[in-house]
Amino acid sequence: MEKRTDFFNLGTDELNDLYQELQEKYNEYKNQILKLDMSRGKPCPEQLELSMEMLDILNSDEQLKAMDGTDCRNYGGVDGISEAKELFSQMLGVSTKEIILGGNSSLNMMYDTLSRAMLLGVSEGELPWGKLPKVKFLCPSPGYDRHFAICELLHIEMITIDMNQDGPDMDTVELLISEDDSIKGIWCAPKYSNPDGITYSDEIVDRLACMKTKARDFRIFWDDAYTVHHLSDKPDQLKNILTACKTAGNPNRVYMFSSTSKITFPGSGIAMLASSEDNVNFIKKQFGIQTIGPDKINQLRHARFLQSLDNLNVHMKKQAAIIRPKFDLVLHHLEADLGGKNIAVWNKPNGGYFISLNTLDGCAKEVVSMAAKIGVTLTNAGATYPYGKDPRNRNIRIAPTFPSIHELKLAIEVLCVCVQLVSIKKILAGRI
Ligand code: PLP
Repeated sequence: MEKRTDFFNLGTDELNDLYQELQEKYNEYKNQILKLDMSRGKPCPEQLELSMEMLDILNSDEQLKAMDGTDCRNYGGVDGISEAKELFSQMLGVSTKEIILGGNSSLNMMYDTLSRAMLLGVSEGELPWGKLPKVKFLCPSPGYDRHFAICELLHIEMITIDMNQDGPDMDTVELLISEDDSIKGIWCAPKYSNPDGITYSDEIVDRLACMKTKARDFRIFWDDAYTVHHLSDKPDQLKNILTACKTAGNPNRVYMFSSTSKITFPGSGIAMLASSEDNVNFIKKQFGIQTIGPDKINQLRHARFLQSLDNLNVHMKKQAAIIRPKFDLVLHHLEADLGGKNIAVWNKPNGGYFISLNTLDGCAKEVVSMAAKIGVTLTNAGATYPYGKDPRNRNIRIAPTFPSIHELKLAIEVLCVCVQLVSIKKILAGRI
């Protein structure tokens, strides 16, 4: 049989034969007692090694002084030390007055920002969102499961918005937010999005910045986690949303987030929040109650290790050199095993941490569960949608960075066998 034949064009006997063949393969993998994990976007040990030098950069009292003389061992500096603010404000395309540096997790900053909005409101004179009968968020999906988990925990109702190839379905977004003032925000992962690897077009950025919202205190939660995480020599370009919001006369509309989790160490990096000066000053007052200051020694280490935006980009090229072969391997196997069969589609990202695979409708859960039964862990099917419910039960997120090349090869082979088995079952069931 031609290897790349459209499964829908195969006769029932041919499909049954193929099913038997694939089932035998599945059983062979089962006998190997695998323990492989493609579920979370974690850097692999080789990537972490790239930043080990950073740990030896500071070793005496004199070296623990920031450029303005701040003793980084002591309390203070609630928004971060100058040299780190300088570097990361350049990375995000904002001024040093428009950024706050936090601890090691941007997710933590997003959680805190949303919690403060619920408890205290987003600016002077605005009601805390938690005092309103209902708060809703727009959730372009597939998206980042942990964004959705924050909403679920805080009882914020989520509305799923389709993702197109250039960003969220803006016609729906604009319609909903113009009519409903209980919609207070939207989650966006605008560059090399998790999991689709999509970068929002300039037009989408402008529409988000300009759109008329019924809620005065509407906010865009702009999670630019993968802003410097390119896999290609021709990186995607993302329009600066803060500038676009200012130009549109909505300077306070956006909170931008990012971190060095996948630049240096996820367990010991630096998170950042950027916004208008008004928003930053409002948040800083509240931040100063929450903490007397972040880990400035870590900020100093990062500033001295990464040095400049140019140097940071060189460092990111080393990261890409480690993970690009893993993305290539997954893409090669998807094409070789699933290409031309009309049972799955996937993206080829220019950056970020994920490959997003869409099976035939109704198949993702079974594929993930079949793979799990023989020791291959994938992100739960559904996790990329609000409430864990993928309406078409078809999206599977593949995280290729952490496993070794050998493990990854096995894991993707298993995944492709499972996709084919479940697809054949579905096609045959449709013929009864
Ligand atoms: N945002 C996105 C879109 C992510 O994919 C991830 C991690 O996978 C994070 C945030 C987590 O960031 P941090 O490590 O800074 O908390």
